[in-house]
Amino acid sequence: WLVRAVVSPDQVRTTILFPVAGNWYRACLNAKNLMKIWVDRLKQEHTLPPEGYKALLTCTHVDVTTYLHRQAQKVTQARFGNNIYIRGLIEISNCCRNNCYYCGIRKGNPQVERYRLSRETILDCCTQGYELGFRTFVMQGGEDAAQSSEWVEETVAAIRNRFPDCAITLSLGEKTREEYERFFRAGANRYLLRHETFNAEHYKLLHPAEMSQQNRIQCLHWLKEIGYQTGTGIMVGSPGQTTDHLIEDIRFIECFRPQMIGIGPFIPHQNTPFGTSAPGSIEQTLRLLSIFRLMLPDALIPATTALATLAPDGRERGILAGANVVMPNLSPCEERIKYALYNNKASLGAEAAEGLAMLNKQLQAIGYKVLPTRGDAPNGDNPFK
Ligand code: SAM
Repeated sequence: WLVRAVVSPDQVRTTILFPVAGNWYRACLNAKNLMKIWVDRLKQEHTLPPEGYKALLTCTHVDVTTYLHRQAQKVTQARFGNNIYIRGLIEISNCCRNNCYYCGIRKGNPQVERYRLSRETILDCCTQGYELGFRTFVMQGGEDAAQSSEWVEETVAAIRNRFPDCAITLSLGEKTREEYERFFRAGANRYLLRHETFNAEHYKLLHPAEMSQQNRIQCLHWLKEIGYQTGTGIMVGSPGQTTDHLIEDIRFIECFRPQMIGIGPFIPHQNTPFGTSAPGSIEQTLRLLSIFRLMLPDALIPATTALATLAPDGRERGILAGANVVMPNLSPCEERIKYALYNNKASLGAEAAEGLAMLNKQLQAIGYKVLPTRGDAPNGDNPFK
């Protein structure tokens, strides 16, 4: 009553509300423009100071996110055109000596029906994959002592012998330098080993005491020195992860310069200590994917199964944010369900090797196509590739 007696409603509108709204609008515009400047700078210089990464990771404005993804997509298309590389994923064993707190196939999960594929079955998977057009085979599995280094070496040699024009990727966890060298000499070309988190304290929160961040990073350096096209990466939204941890991950990847970067959202598995934790965010995963693309334009970055599991259009959104690889599942159908790293892991439809036609259709709908070649890393970093 007192305000109304002193100033009219018109005065309130013109002298108080309009200027306040105007200032607020200008501040928003400035903040948005500042964000776009960070994106442009990352695109041009392939690096940012930590505050730049922080700004991009914490800005949820849709215009800024759209701009970030669009710039990352443009960079991918300039390097790779509208082509998507495919890798045939063969999950060779779900037996593991480790007890990572987030992983469904951890040693301490008694509910897992364990399996390991024989060499013959793996070769059959490769034959089926070759006929479908795959020219990269990825052998992934738990750290399974029964699949000894001799066995891995001989299996790699058998695939190399039968499929000389194909790339062989291994993702079998932490080994000694000598073991990595033997696999490489037998014919393996690439190795995927996500560092999971660069922060040693955070690493301890996710893993039991017998595992260490230092050893994981040491393995990555060995792999690169030996001559593998090396991939690393993280789970986004793993329990206890902060924006500062993500910035440490970004800066590690910037420095390490892997040829491949695997990033997917953390998804809980019911029979793990993190079974009731919230899953990672798709939006944050996509933001990181675009940041990595702008940082390392030549990198091979998959639209991961975890993304496709969390959202029906996760694979397509990954590609539109700068991914250029998909890894359909080539494992025998009856075993796929047993390689359950997290709840409801996708392994059918376009996530399956036999669903390649469906995958191609989905990719065509967003203007892309499968390229049935080896799809090596285009940068000259690696003399052995
Ligand atoms: N043993 C190998 C290793 O350690 O790299 C390969 C197998 S491991 C299961 C493959 C990847 O699965 C891990 O690097 C991890 O990032 C991912 N993973 C495991 N549990 C997950 C979960 N609950 N959510 C999302 N990704 C998960």
